[in-house]
Amino acid sequence: MSVWFVTGASKGFGAHIVREALARGHQAVATARNPQTVHDAFPDAGDALLVAPLDVTDQEQARSAAEAAVERFGRIDVLVNNAGRGLLGAVEEAGDEEVRAVFDTNVFGLLAVTRAVLPIMRRQRSGRVFNLSSVGGIAVGQGWGIYGGTKYAVEGISEAMRRELAPLGVQVTIVEPGTFRTDFLDGSSLHIARTVIDDYADTAGQVRESTDSRNHQQVGDPAKAATVIVDVAEAPEQPVRL
Ligand code: NDP
Repeated sequence: MSVWFVTGASKGFGAHIVREALARGHQAVATARNPQTVHDAFPDAGDALLVAPLDVTDQEQARSAAEAAVERFGRIDVLVNNAGRGLLGAVEEAGDEEVRAVFDTNVFGLLAVTRAVLPIMRRQRSGRVFNLSSVGGIAVGQGWGIYGGTKYAVEGISEAMRRELAPLGVQVTIVEPGTFRTDFLDGSSLHIARTVIDDYADTAGQVRESTDSRNHQQVGDPAKAATVIVDVAEAPEQPVRL
């Protein structure tokens, strides 16, 4: 039985991962900006679930949540850095404030939570970290420059972590989903920049196509992705590629 610590567990991938971990008999610390959303999603979880408030952009909250996890379960075996948000629009049109907001969550937030949890894993000499990147972290299309930029950062940071932590018994896995059926494309997680510069009509068309629900027929099932992540975490230690 492992102890899971998941960020952004209110919905989407985060909630599915918590559900799958609990179903397999693991314990979970489900963190969310609004803990009530998690209580509502898991009314019957019992003692195997700890719900902790966590806005990943708040370093102090990250430390408190990690401490609460150890107080309750004694350890953290698996960290899932899942919380994320998006921004769609031409690079030139993206203002500093909205760019910072995406980097704050996807990059600085991931770092804040990682800094809070790694000392616990180093003490244990064991742990698994899953960092949610995206296909946008390996190839970026029109309109996805800022979001892709955050995920390229996640890729680079994760690669370094993988090398740094392997000798300490902590394995790092990068998750690069394509398009999955969560709230991400349609909901509040994705801010869509107005196309105000006429020259970017083609990019605006691409942006519309990305978010058009008629194009979402063939997208992946996040519940299945969650089973794969839990399978990987449960697999015996993988050979380390350095
Ligand atoms: P959802 O919109 O369904 O969920 C996003 C989650 O992140 C929510 O729980 C949201 O919480 C949380 N979140 C956002 N900002 C913060 C914050 N500052 N602190 C804590 N939690 C926060 O999207 P997904 O489940 O699809 O996204 C999860 C991850 O998967 C993201 O990192 C995303 O980039 C990545 N991804 C998703 C893909 C997809 O097609 N769905 C494809 C590739 C990658 P709240 O309810 O409070 O808003």
